[in-house]
Amino acid sequence: MKKDDCIFCKIAAGEIPSGTIYEDHDFRVIFDRGPAAKGHALILPKEHYADIYEIDDDLLAKAAALAKKMAVRMTSVLGCDGFNIVQNNGQAAGQTVFHFHMHLIPRYKNDDAKMGWKVHDITDEEIAALVAEFN
Ligand code: 5GP
Ligand code: ZN
Repeated sequence: MKKDDCIFCKIAAGEIPSGTIYEDHDFRVIFDRGPAAKGHALILPKEHYADIYEIDDDLLAKAAALAKKMAVRMTSVLGCDGFNIVQNNGQAAGQTVFHFHMHLIPRYKNDDAKMGWKVHDITDEEIAALVAEFN
């Protein structure tokens, strides 16, 4: 299904022009309009799924395989030194466009892309309490 007011549905369908570097039956891969580093691209499914909670398992598996294929190709073309694959779900996690997408971010030794998190201390007891929540 497509969602009428979704910008990524329109881009994925080719209704809005984009810098496309790969397309198949299920996906379009475009360059991000606000790149964190040179070559920052996005994998967009052509069907609308808001996030990882909604996306079909088989399509997600295809997206993961495509992420690898794109990482290999982009690393070869761009000569980057590393590669981040980022996928945000929900406003609290930094998602701003609510159509599932994967960020493909080539990284360079001296780039200024900011990624990561503050590291907190955790005790063995706190880890055990977390494990208990899953049992
Ligand atoms: P999110 O924060 O939801 O994980 O990522 C959304 C990404 O989409 C951002 O990196 C933003 O720069 C990019 N973006 C938002 N609107 C457009 C657009 O119209 N075209 C393209 N190519 N990228 C967009
Ligand atoms: Zn959409």
